[in-house]
Amino acid sequence: MRVCSCVQEVRDYLRVERTKRKIAFVPTMGFLHEGHESLLRLARSLGDLVVLSIYVNPTQFNNIQDLQCYPRDIERDLAIAEKSGVDMVFTPADDEMYIPGVSRDKLVQVKAGRAAFQGLCGATRPGHFDGVVTVVAKLFNIVQPDLAIFGEKDYQQLQVVRELVRDLQMPVKIIAAPLLREASGLAMSSRNVRLSQKGREEAAKIFKGLLEARSCCEQGLRAGRKVRAEEVIAIAAPIIQSIPESSIDYLELRSGDLLDLAEYVDEDTRLFAAVYVEGVRLIDNMAMF
Ligand code: AMP
Repeated sequence: MRVCSCVQEVRDYLRVERTKRKIAFVPTMGFLHEGHESLLRLARSLGDLVVLSIYVNPTQFNNIQDLQCYPRDIERDLAIAEKSGVDMVFTPADDEMYIPGVSRDKLVQVKAGRAAFQGLCGATRPGHFDGVVTVVAKLFNIVQPDLAIFGEKDYQQLQVVRELVRDLQMPVKIIAAPLLREASGLAMSSRNVRLSQKGREEAAKIFKGLLEARSCCEQGLRAGRKVRAEEVIAIAAPIIQSIPESSIDYLELRSGDLLDLAEYVDEDTRLFAAVYVEGVRLIDNMAMF
């Protein structure tokens, strides 16, 4: 496995490879877990050459403390990457991605499109998706992948990235990977290590809330009844609120394609949750049909 920290090194390595092989790319912020590994497996099955990037992008953090607390362990990540059959890992420093000494808001940035303005994380994390699309555009320019894999765990991000490649006509196919959960049902996330053991157990109630909401939808729909968004939220909310030291940032029923607020459940609607548990922001979502 090749590890590169400079853009030029990545370009030199890939120049030869891209002529004969399909490049599958998995961008991450590191501290890899099984959710990331499932993306790498998918990349391995779809591409000939698997490229992983590990970069904690400062411009997508709107909270400096969150950035500083973001867990990192590059040695462990490289071991996981090697085991997962990754061909090349790109591990840039900030100075490799953003010109040093120039204020970042003076540099060219990409502005996220419609999906970023549909509430959810776009509303509660101002500037977050502009930072995401800016760094994803840079990474796509460096790696020039044929396909790139993003997890449904960050469902709004997936839609925002789909719009990025569509609107800027980038020749990259975006592949969605299913959300992976811990045995308790808690969505796997690098941030989970910041929870206490008890907090981690309790946080599984986010999944339980979504699951109960879905079974309410299934019952209603089986009975031939239209299920209203308020009903669904009223099922999930108390379960999630029963988590100690928690607060709901959002809990909303939206369409899965355009992320519009939905009045009723249908085959495309998903329930989206962002919840602070012990000060750690956790997100989750589930199809309600
Ligand atoms: P991150 O390192 O958290 O920025 O995530 C990198 C990629 O892994 C993103 O496309 C995420 O959506 C995806 N990912 C993170 N957690 C999970 C999970 N539990 N299941 C599936 N994909 C995930």
